[in-house]
Amino acid sequence: MITAEQLKQPVEAIRPLQEFVPFSPPLVGAEEIAEVVDTLKSGWLTTGPKTERFEKAVGEYCGAKHVLAVNSCTAALHLALNGLDIGPGDGVITTPFTFASTGHAILYQRARPFLVDVEPATFNLDPEKVRLFLEKECRTGGKDGRPRHKETGLTVKALLPVHYGGHPCRMTELLALARDYNLAVIEDAAHAIGAEYRGRRIGALGRLTCFSFYATKNLTTGEGGAVLTDDVELARRLRILSMYGISDARRIWKRYAPKGSWVYDVVDLGFKYNMMDIQAALGLHQLAKLETFITRRTENAGIYNQVLSDLDLVRRPTVQGYARHAWHLYPILLELERLDLSRDVFIERLKEHNIGTSVLFIPLHFHSYYRQVLPYREGDFPVAEDIFRRLVNLPVSPALSKETIVQVAETTAGLIEEHRR
Ligand SMILES: *Cc1c(COP(=O)(O)O)cnc(C)c1O
Repeated sequence: MITAEQLKQPVEAIRPLQEFVPFSPPLVGAEEIAEVVDTLKSGWLTTGPKTERFEKAVGEYCGAKHVLAVNSCTAALHLALNGLDIGPGDGVITTPFTFASTGHAILYQRARPFLVDVEPATFNLDPEKVRLFLEKECRTGGKDGRPRHKETGLTVKALLPVHYGGHPCRMTELLALARDYNLAVIEDAAHAIGAEYRGRRIGALGRLTCFSFYATKNLTTGEGGAVLTDDVELARRLRILSMYGISDARRIWKRYAPKGSWVYDVVDLGFKYNMMDIQAALGLHQLAKLETFITRRTENAGIYNQVLSDLDLVRRPTVQGYARHAWHLYPILLELERLDLSRDVFIERLKEHNIGTSVLFIPLHFHSYYRQVLPYREGDFPVAEDIFRRLVNLPVSPALSKETIVQVAETTAGLIEEHRR
């Protein structure tokens, strides 16, 4: 492993990366390819037996009773909010430090996102600040026990925390607030399949949990997602809503089987959010490999931790005692005050050295659309904003070899050291 002496050497002395290292390449093997081919040859391409098997397998892995596989996490979040009848006149507490998807899903329902700042250690929704929002900015005492936002009169109906980077939120505190204020907890677990909170897998904690199986995520079906719940009635409702609102959606794919029937009834204004068997074919094998993937991600994070440990110019991510981290992301924060280059220039320098990075996320309230529709301004969420300004996400995918990660880590460390003020 790299020594303190080596760290002081200029970057040129470090083995250069010959090829560009992509930020988050998927890891798809022969098993996935064979399964997709099998699906293509089977004569059944869309939602069918493989989707059903994938749903069961995800449920068993996470310890959730009901799983509905859908075509994205955005769809999963939208279904969750729709299924809980969150709509105009309602508000949902969420974090500014997330992807547009989280805020969009709330806005699709014509409900209002109430943003609350994150905690510095995990970049996750800060339960203490949520409590302050509920106590100070809301009025309670209505029949339903739900808080009314004083300024807008909206009813706060749900908490929508995001397990940033695969590190679980402080669920005990958030679930306690949800109980006290009669709020539903919908988890945006787009990064967090396989993560654990106090020994329990994400997926079995809140009322509803939403996963993403997008191409860059820890488990991929190309595009895809799932919504999990232990509530049988809610699960049934979401399944119907995911298929146009057609009753008995579970059996719909059997309509064309010998014993199927042509009769169907549309009972609700549902959506077209179902997952195809081609996607589930990928998912079945990705899920079987997920533990190995997370082990590899953890090893990659360990390499960064070790190589960057002596460097006082960056803050490394930490893992809270309650958590098993799924390491979807490896975020570092630059001590910009002690560097002679900006975060953006640093990213360019990394690119010149063949290292692909990202900045996840640009806070929601910084986007022009969100500036138009929500009353927030720069300065409203100082913790999220400070994280964003210093943030660089390094590649941590299991598709990258340990040697590559060592080189990325050494190059990153060398570059930072070169720019000490
Ligand atoms: C990727 C992502 C989503 C959206 O996932 P899709 O499957 O692409 O819809 C939602 N929330 C977060 C935090 C994400 O990173």
